[in-house]
Amino acid sequence: MECIFCKIVKGEIPSKKVLENENFLAFHDINPIAPIHILIIPKEHFENFSDTPKETFAKMSDFIKAVAKELDISDYRLITNNGKNAGQEVFHLHIHMIANPGEKLKWPKLV
Ligand code: AMP
Repeated sequence: MECIFCKIVKGEIPSKKVLENENFLAFHDINPIAPIHILIIPKEHFENFSDTPKETFAKMSDFIKAVAKELDISDYRLITNNGKNAGQEVFHLHIHMIANPGEKLKWPKLV
């Protein structure tokens, strides 16, 4: 069965998009833990951080900054859960971008 985020990339499952380019997509987490909770993914399927080539991360870095600009936020937290025991539930690399604009970010559980 195809992965859920690959289906989002193909438009087979709806998502609330923030930004997209040829290689990456940013969309709202369906179950936000903070006022801003975005998932940033490569369109190509990699299981997680361990599985992702550094060249992809180099490009993703610029895209992440563009997402922050799009959202007009300067302060945010980036998290990626790498593996089941780290809390990973969807096995398609995603970076959580979490923010609470104008206020100190706090939340009780780590994603
Ligand atoms: P992780 O636990 O790091 O694998 O995070 C997976 C995240 O994907 C969770 O925060 C979920 O709320 C989110 N998620 C799962 N399905 C969807 C979906 N269809 N659209 C948006 N976010 C989703």
